[in-house]
Amino acid sequence: MPKSKKYSESVSDHRQGLEIIAQLLTDPDCGVVKNVNEIKGVGHRVVHGGEEFTGSMIIDSKVKEKIRQFIPLAPLHNPPNLEGILAAEKFFPESVQVACFDTAFHTTIPEVVYLYALPYYLYENHRIRRYGFHGTSHRYVARRFAQRMGKHKYDVNVITCHLGNGCSITAVKNGRSIDTSMGFTPLEGLVMGTRSGDIDPGIVLYLIENLGMKVNQVNKILNRESGLIGISGVSNDFRNIVDEAAKGNKMASLAIDIFCYRVKKYIGAYMVVLGRIDGIVFTAGIGENQPVVREKSLEGLEEYGVIIDKEKNKTCYGKEMEISSPDSKIKVFVIPTNEELAIAIDTYEFAKKSYEQ
Ligand code: ADP
Repeated sequence: MPKSKKYSESVSDHRQGLEIIAQLLTDPDCGVVKNVNEIKGVGHRVVHGGEEFTGSMIIDSKVKEKIRQFIPLAPLHNPPNLEGILAAEKFFPESVQVACFDTAFHTTIPEVVYLYALPYYLYENHRIRRYGFHGTSHRYVARRFAQRMGKHKYDVNVITCHLGNGCSITAVKNGRSIDTSMGFTPLEGLVMGTRSGDIDPGIVLYLIENLGMKVNQVNKILNRESGLIGISGVSNDFRNIVDEAAKGNKMASLAIDIFCYRVKKYIGAYMVVLGRIDGIVFTAGIGENQPVVREKSLEGLEEYGVIIDKEKNKTCYGKEMEISSPDSKIKVFVIPTNEELAIAIDTYEFAKKSYEQ
């Protein structure tokens, strides 16, 4: 068994980071392989795969070109994703490179859901539509929920709540995403650490026309200064907000209430959209570790078949656990997300196929 080694140092770019990873993997003390060529596959989380990629893909020049084409749709994410791919190709030249797209799980969302009620040419010519994100996480916890229920992955209807720094909720029908709260960008939907989630788009016009703001100022407000930090004035970290609320900080309490109300509103909407539902799953930093959010978001849903065991809920931090009471028609679970594992499984499958050929 190789010794474990903690390595922490800032790196100048992805290339240097990947180079260090390659060295550590072959380190005589803590490495796991003798030669990097033993690594048969490298999986990459790629945020935007547009409408094109409905699942994970082996990366070739065409896939890279597409990821490049989608840069205007994800300017902060696709460029570093590409850099990571290029660096991995250099340092793991014998490996199959696999892209797992955040958008892929949501490509089953029907037209009636993904189209905004904007002039149709904006979709036709500019592909402005709802894409959804966090797909790898929603898919992972939906599959895990199906396993826990002893059902086939395409035999469950479940609402998955990914509540981290970024937050999104997905309605999963027969194992497939049919609606999700993030849209054209990750800004839509729930209240997040620093993002506003749903707002009246008229506010954007008002800020520009009446308050004389520039586009980059509005961008900063919506993406970095809103959400939990915007309301609480305390932090974008839920732990700090809970601490402040406990000390009597009213704005911190209000931020928690607004956050949970939005989660509840989406859960209600998706319960109706799905018709029959088997369960609700909470995941990611807040979903896994904040009992208060789970309790408040599900408060008053007893009549709709959701009854949580409050005591159990209070004991659940970061572990997989059912938190609904036995008489709850709809099961409520906390399932820690594991996007790395989901990406590793997809990559393994591609690598296996490629080496069998
Ligand atoms: P990201 O979206 O960046 O991956 P995370 O899933 O780690 O973010 O979620 C970050 C949020 O989860 C923060 O608001 C943080 O307060 C909360 N969180 C993370 N870990 C814990 C924990 N152990 N206890 C309570 N809250 C946590």
